[in-house]
Amino acid sequence: MGAAELISSYRLEVSSPPCEPGAERYNAFAHLDVDISALMPYVNAVWPGATYDKAGPHLQGRFRGHAVTLHPRMIALGGFADRAEAEALMQELIAELNRIWQERESIQPDYRKRERPSAVALYRLLPGANCKECGEETCFIFASKLSIGAAELGRCGRLRQPEHAWRLEKLRALLGEVP
Ligand code: SF4
Repeated sequence: MGAAELISSYRLEVSSPPCEPGAERYNAFAHLDVDISALMPYVNAVWPGATYDKAGPHLQGRFRGHAVTLHPRMIALGGFADRAEAEALMQELIAELNRIWQERESIQPDYRKRERPSAVALYRLLPGANCKECGEETCFIFASKLSIGAAELGRCGRLRQPEHAWRLEKLRALLGEVP
Protein backbone atom coordinates (compact mmCIF):
# COMPACT_ATOMS: atom_id res chain seq x y z
CA MET A 1 0.00 0.00 0.00
CA GLY A 2 1.27 3.45 -0.79
CA ALA A 3 1.49 6.43 1.49
CA ALA A 4 -0.85 8.61 -0.54
CA GLU A 5 -3.35 10.69 1.37
CA LEU A 6 -6.92 9.45 1.22
CA ILE A 7 -8.43 12.91 1.57
CA SER A 8 -6.43 15.38 -0.47
CA SER A 9 -9.10 18.03 -1.01
CA TYR A 10 -12.52 18.95 0.29
CA ARG A 11 -15.05 21.73 0.22
CA LEU A 12 -15.64 23.24 3.65
CA GLU A 13 -19.03 24.52 4.75
CA VAL A 14 -19.45 26.21 8.13
CA SER A 15 -22.98 26.79 9.33
CA SER A 16 -24.65 28.14 12.43
CA PRO A 17 -27.71 26.17 13.60
CA PRO A 18 -30.83 27.91 14.96
CA CYS A 19 -30.34 29.47 18.39
CA GLU A 20 -31.12 27.14 21.26
CA PRO A 21 -29.98 27.52 24.86
CA GLY A 22 -26.64 25.73 25.15
CA ALA A 23 -26.61 24.86 21.46
CA GLU A 24 -23.32 24.47 19.69
CA ARG A 25 -23.12 27.56 17.59
CA TYR A 26 -21.05 26.53 14.59
CA ASN A 27 -20.84 23.23 12.79
CA ALA A 28 -18.34 22.44 10.05
CA PHE A 29 -18.91 20.08 7.14
CA ALA A 30 -16.21 18.81 4.80
CA HIS A 31 -17.68 17.64 1.49
CA LEU A 32 -15.34 15.04 0.01
CA ASP A 33 -14.37 14.00 -3.50
CA VAL A 34 -13.58 10.47 -2.27
CA ASP A 35 -15.64 7.80 -0.50
CA ILE A 36 -14.15 7.18 2.98
CA SER A 37 -16.28 4.12 3.85
CA ALA A 38 -13.18 1.89 3.80
CA LEU A 39 -11.47 4.15 6.35
CA MET A 40 -14.21 3.85 9.00
CA PRO A 41 -13.33 0.38 10.42
CA TYR A 42 -9.77 1.61 10.99
CA VAL A 43 -11.01 4.74 12.79
CA ASN A 44 -13.34 2.48 14.79
CA ALA A 45 -10.29 0.49 15.89
CA VAL A 46 -8.26 3.54 16.86
CA TRP A 47 -11.01 5.59 18.57
CA PRO A 48 -12.24 3.20 21.32
CA GLY A 49 -15.47 5.07 22.12
CA ALA A 50 -16.56 5.56 18.52
CA THR A 51 -19.91 4.19 17.38
CA TYR A 52 -19.62 2.62 13.97
CA ASP A 53 -22.48 1.27 11.93
CA LYS A 54 -21.48 -0.50 8.76
CA ALA A 55 -25.04 -0.20 7.52
CA GLY A 56 -24.98 3.21 6.00
CA PRO A 57 -22.13 3.33 6.81
CA HIS A 58 -21.35 6.02 9.35
CA LEU A 59 -19.18 6.53 12.41
CA GLN A 60 -19.62 8.89 15.34
CA GLY A 61 -16.86 9.86 17.73
CA ARG A 62 -15.13 12.79 19.31
CA PHE A 63 -12.00 14.67 18.31
CA ARG A 64 -10.33 17.23 20.62
CA GLY A 65 -13.61 17.40 22.55
CA HIS A 66 -15.85 17.97 19.52
CA ALA A 67 -18.52 15.66 18.11
CA VAL A 68 -17.54 14.07 14.78
CA THR A 69 -19.66 12.13 12.31
CA LEU A 70 -18.10 10.45 9.31
CA HIS A 71 -20.31 9.73 6.30
CA PRO A 72 -19.05 8.17 3.06
CA ARG A 73 -18.56 11.56 1.39
CA MET A 74 -18.95 14.02 4.21
CA ILE A 75 -17.40 14.78 7.62
CA ALA A 76 -19.33 16.78 10.22
CA LEU A 77 -17.69 18.46 13.22
CA GLY A 78 -19.68 20.35 15.85
CA GLY A 79 -19.38 22.75 18.73
CA PHE A 80 -17.34 25.80 17.76
CA ALA A 81 -17.31 29.32 19.13
CA ASP A 82 -16.23 30.78 15.81
CA ARG A 83 -15.62 30.00 12.17
CA ALA A 84 -11.81 30.18 12.35
CA GLU A 85 -11.74 27.54 15.10
CA ALA A 86 -14.02 25.28 13.05
CA GLU A 87 -11.83 25.58 9.98
CA ALA A 88 -8.61 24.92 11.90
CA LEU A 89 -9.97 21.86 13.68
CA MET A 90 -11.36 20.37 10.48
CA GLN A 91 -7.85 20.61 9.01
CA GLU A 92 -6.45 18.83 12.07
CA LEU A 93 -9.12 16.13 11.90
CA ILE A 94 -8.47 15.46 8.23
CA ALA A 95 -4.75 15.19 8.92
CA GLU A 96 -5.55 12.65 11.66
CA LEU A 97 -7.81 10.63 9.34
CA ASN A 98 -5.14 10.62 6.64
CA ARG A 99 -2.60 9.45 9.23
CA ILE A 100 -4.87 6.54 10.24
CA TRP A 101 -5.34 5.62 6.58
CA GLN A 102 -1.61 5.70 5.91
CA GLU A 103 -0.97 3.46 8.93
CA ARG A 104 -3.80 1.01 8.15
CA GLU A 105 -1.43 -1.89 7.46
CA SER A 106 -0.56 -1.89 11.17
CA ILE A 107 -4.17 -1.50 12.39
CA GLN A 108 -6.65 -4.36 12.80
CA PRO A 109 -9.90 -2.99 11.34
CA ASP A 110 -12.84 -3.19 13.73
CA TYR A 111 -16.28 -3.76 12.17
CA ARG A 112 -18.14 -4.00 15.48
CA LYS A 113 -21.01 -1.71 16.25
CA ARG A 114 -20.75 -0.06 19.67
CA GLU A 115 -23.35 1.85 21.65
CA ARG A 116 -22.64 5.19 23.27
CA PRO A 117 -22.05 4.99 27.05
CA SER A 118 -25.18 5.45 29.16
CA ALA A 119 -25.92 8.59 31.16
CA VAL A 120 -25.65 6.55 34.36
CA ALA A 121 -22.18 5.23 33.46
CA LEU A 122 -21.01 8.78 32.72
CA TYR A 123 -22.67 10.25 35.79
CA ARG A 124 -20.81 7.84 38.07
CA LEU A 125 -17.54 9.34 36.87
CA LEU A 126 -18.48 13.03 37.18
CA PRO A 127 -17.45 14.97 40.33
CA GLY A 128 -21.03 14.93 41.62
CA ALA A 129 -20.89 18.49 42.97
CA ASN A 130 -24.03 19.76 41.18
CA CYS A 131 -22.27 23.14 41.06
CA LYS A 132 -23.92 24.24 37.75
CA GLU A 133 -20.63 25.60 36.33
CA CYS A 134 -21.22 23.53 33.20
CA GLY A 135 -24.49 25.36 32.61
CA GLU A 136 -26.65 22.42 33.68
CA GLU A 137 -28.72 22.17 36.83
CA THR A 138 -27.17 18.87 37.93
CA CYS A 139 -24.33 16.53 37.08
CA PHE A 140 -26.91 13.99 35.90
CA ILE A 141 -28.38 16.37 33.32
CA PHE A 142 -24.84 17.05 32.11
CA ALA A 143 -24.22 13.29 31.92
CA SER A 144 -27.43 12.84 29.94
CA LYS A 145 -26.28 15.42 27.40
CA LEU A 146 -22.82 13.86 27.23
CA SER A 147 -24.38 10.49 26.44
CA ILE A 148 -26.15 11.83 23.36
CA GLY A 149 -23.22 13.98 22.23
CA ALA A 150 -24.96 17.26 23.11
CA ALA A 151 -22.35 18.48 25.63
CA GLU A 152 -18.58 18.72 25.83
CA LEU A 153 -16.53 17.34 28.72
CA GLY A 154 -14.59 20.63 28.77
CA ARG A 155 -17.64 22.41 30.20
CA CYS A 156 -17.07 20.73 33.57
CA GLY A 157 -14.23 22.82 35.01
CA ARG A 158 -13.93 20.59 38.06
CA LEU A 159 -12.64 17.77 35.90
CA ARG A 160 -9.53 19.87 35.28
CA GLN A 161 -8.69 19.89 38.99
CA PRO A 162 -5.81 17.52 39.81
CA GLU A 163 -7.86 15.38 42.19
CA HIS A 164 -10.32 14.64 39.40
CA ALA A 165 -7.72 13.81 36.73
CA TRP A 166 -8.54 10.10 37.01
CA ARG A 167 -12.22 10.86 36.32
CA LEU A 168 -11.35 12.88 33.24
CA GLU A 169 -9.14 10.10 31.94
CA LYS A 170 -11.88 7.47 32.37
CA LEU A 171 -14.56 9.71 30.88
CA ARG A 172 -12.40 10.43 27.84
CA ALA A 173 -11.80 6.71 27.39
CA LEU A 174 -15.55 5.93 27.68
CA LEU A 175 -16.42 8.63 25.19
CA GLY A 176 -13.56 7.69 22.91
CA GLU A 177 -12.14 11.18 22.83
CA VAL A 178 -8.88 11.84 21.07
CA PRO A 179 -6.96 14.16 23.46
S1 SF4 B 1 -19.63 21.49 36.29
FE1 SF4 B 1 -19.20 19.32 36.64
S2 SF4 B 1 -19.47 19.05 38.84
FE2 SF4 B 1 -20.49 20.95 38.30
S3 SF4 B 1 -22.63 20.37 37.85
FE3 SF4 B 1 -21.55 20.33 35.91
S4 SF4 B 1 -20.89 18.21 35.70
FE4 SF4 B 1 -21.41 18.51 37.86
